[in-house]
Order: sequence, then C-alpha cells, then structure tokens
Amino acid sequence: MIHEILPVGPLQCNCSVIGDETTHEAMVIDPGDDIEDIVAIVRRHKLQVKQIVITHAHIDHVGGAMKLRAQTGAPILLNQNDYALLKMLDVQASWVGMATPGKVEIDSSLDDDQSLRTGSLAASVLHTPGHTEGSVCLYFPAEKMLIAGDTLFARSIGRTDLPGGSFEKILNSLHSRVLTLPDETVVYPGHGPKTTIGEEREENPFLQM
Ligand SMILES: [Zn+2]
Repeated sequence: MIHEILPVGPLQCNCSVIGDETTHEAMVIDPGDDIEDIVAIVRRHKLQVKQIVITHAHIDHVGGAMKLRAQTGAPILLNQNDYALLKMLDVQASWVGMATPGKVEIDSSLDDDQSLRTGSLAASVLHTPGHTEGSVCLYFPAEKMLIAGDTLFARSIGRTDLPGGSFEKILNSLHSRVLTLPDETVVYPGHGPKTTIGEEREENPFLQM
C-alpha cells in the first residue's frame, strides 16, 4: 500500500493519499487545500485517483475537493447527513478566515457499512456522527488502519460545539463503532499525530467516561 499523509491548509488537515502499488489506483481523503501538493504526490507515484472521500463537510477537509475533481475526474463522496453543512461553506470560511471555495458538488453519498474499493484496497465506511451529523471514519481491516476524520484525535476527540455537533452522539459513536476495533489498529486523525485504538482506549481522557 502507498500511504502519504500531507497536512494541508491553514488548519493543517491531514490529507491522505492511499494507493494500490500494483494497479496504481488511489483514493484521496480530505483534500482540504494545497491541491497542487496533493497532485504532485499523485504524479510522483503514478497514481490514478478513483475516489475523493470526504470524512465530513468542514471547509478544512472539503475546501479543495472541486479542484482535485477537475484535475483527476474522480467522484467526490460524502455522507448525506452533512449535505446541509456543505451549503454553509461561505459561513465556515468566515469562521476560520479562509477564502470561500465556492460550491462543492457531491457525486454520491457515503453510507454506513458501505465498502469502498480501490485496486486491492478495501475500506468500510463507519458512520460516526457527533463532530458533525455526517462524520464518517474509514476502516481498512487488512491494513489494520483507521482514517478517523475529526472524530478521534491522539488523546482528544472532535469538538462538538459547532452546528450539527453533539457530545452525546460523538461519545456514542466512539464507544459503539470505534473502540470496538482491534487495539493494534493504527488511527490517522484529521489533525495531529497518529495513534492506536489501544493507546486511546487506555489514555484518552474523553474515553474514560
Ligand atoms: Zn471538522
């Protein structure tokens, strides 16, 4: 597996480029900004982007999606519960002082338990509402890896004070969907360093409640 992680934009959202070394098919997760840098990685590995996956509709995760679609022709996927939030990108841009990316069009919804395939790589979609209504994590069982979006961070969890956020829901998502994964699963959060399910189960103060 090819896996490159690139912090993009002023909020340093972790964008992942995940590719099959044999078929050179790839998915890009959360292309929030800095699309030229993402495309440079794609070209360096001679990848063909098949899917643009958005973990949730915050501007720092979705802001560059249309530019990447224009350059790759790949469809943009987002859980439908975040479509309303996607209509608020102008408002979100003013919160964080980013330029508005214009309208983002979604090609299809990411549904709970849906399987995403790229070459030999397979991920299942875990709908994990709480940070936003339509937040998802992507679980790659063969690679023992979770792309967590802003649901789980190293020793922290996603904020729930923005529109669509719910502290009760994020805790429920974490306990019922995320902490049920094996301890050795490596977690790549939407911001900051990687961690593991086992470490977070033991050390994350929000998961002790
Ligand atoms: Zn977010």
